[in-house]
Formats: sequence, structure tokens, C-alpha cells
Amino acid sequence: MAKTDYDAPRTPVVEEDSLEELKARRATPRADAVDVDEADLAEGFELPGADQIDEELSVTVIPMQADEFRCSRCYLVRHRNQRAVADIDVCRDCA
Ligand SMILES: [Zn+2]
Repeated sequence: MAKTDYDAPRTPVVEEDSLEELKARRATPRADAVDVDEADLAEGFELPGADQIDEELSVTVIPMQADEFRCSRCYLVRHRNQRAVADIDVCRDCA
């Protein structure tokens, strides 16, 4: 009847393979460890305007808030409570 279409049965087979790969990854503890490392790297490179690039890392980058500042030395966004001097954008770690 509809056996002339050779491509039709291929698609479901591929999906089954990918599902098995996902199950295998979940069973592998190393996969989780890699995810944690990527999250840490993303936090280290947090920059204003870089939120669109980080979408594929599944890490939510929050834009700089009004009560935050960006350190002029380490370029990390800090809460203003961590500002070393009121007039200068330098955090306590870099002061
Ligand atoms: Zn700093």
C-alpha cells in the first residue's frame, strides 16, 4: 500500500536513538559535572549585554540592577554594599 516511501520509517528510528542517548547521559554522572562547570564559567564572565549569548548555556544572566555596580578592575557586577569607596567603582576584593 504505502510501502513506496522509504524515508517515512527512518524518522521514528532516529528519534528512538536520541532518546536512548538521553537516557544514557542521565545515567552518566559525568554529564552533570560538565553542566556545573559551564555554569561556573558563565558566572565568571557575566557582562551586561551578554545575556543573549548565554541562552544556549541555560544560565539566566540578570541585567545589572540599580543598586549594583560593575567593578572597574575585575569587571564583575557587585552589590553596592561591596563597593570599597563610595565614589569609585571598585569592589572590596580589588581595593
Ligand atoms: Zn573587583
